[in-house]
Amino acid sequence: MSDLVPLIRERYLQTLENIACAAQSAGRKPESVKLVVVTKTQPVEVVQAAIEAGAHLLGENYPEEGVMKLQSMRQFSAVEWHMIGHVQSRKAQLVAQNFNLLHSLDSLKLAKRLDRFCGEAGRALPVLLEFNVGGEDSKSGWLAGDETHWSALLDDLAAVVALPNLQVRGLMTMPPLGGTSEFSRPFFQKLKRLQQYLASQFQQVNFSELSMGTSGDYETAVQEGATLVRVGTAIVGARQYT
Ligand SMILES: *Cc1c(COP(=O)(O)O)cnc(C)c1O
Repeated sequence: MSDLVPLIRERYLQTLENIACAAQSAGRKPESVKLVVVTKTQPVEVVQAAIEAGAHLLGENYPEEGVMKLQSMRQFSAVEWHMIGHVQSRKAQLVAQNFNLLHSLDSLKLAKRLDRFCGEAGRALPVLLEFNVGGEDSKSGWLAGDETHWSALLDDLAAVVALPNLQVRGLMTMPPLGGTSEFSRPFFQKLKRLQQYLASQFQQVNFSELSMGTSGDYETAVQEGATLVRVGTAIVGARQYT
């Protein structure tokens, strides 16, 4: 075991404790929130240390990097690999074949490609629909900043939920970068309202998962209903760009 393990374990357990406190403060059960440890850009030694420290849901942003890591960590068969970054069309097959959950399904076109590759691979892929609730031009996700235009999303979403090899499980967002966690709160609240809206429109679909909150604002996200938080730097340290 590397000496990284105790350090990562301490931060991982602290994060779980903070999640539990935030959940309780909002009258929620701590076990209703799952912690995804984001290991993008981290070398495999850090990924392995995170697993040995107790992490069992890992989030990666880049399909090739994620596949390389999951293939080298096959001995940890209980670990789930989540794709949380934008997936380019040409990477759809890698994602369809390898990941346990895609948080960042952001277009009908990508959904159709994933569905086709899943069909060929004989597997179903659980997905979350990514929404751009801040309305920023630079962000991926279906534009959902303006609540009065949510009905314009329904045609696309109806086509996504009808795809046989994708299993829609909920929603995901990445709010605009603010600086404080309070800045993120209204965006988390908006995603929660969108969840309720979609659940009323598609009664046969399960939208129960809400993936929101990162190192700087996950406690706020939990107070607002997150069921999956995606925490990187607060657990595994600064990203390692090479
Ligand atoms: C990098 C990333 C995270 C983790 O961010 P931290 O600030 O390191 O916690 C979460 N979600 C997405 C989509 C990311 O790209």
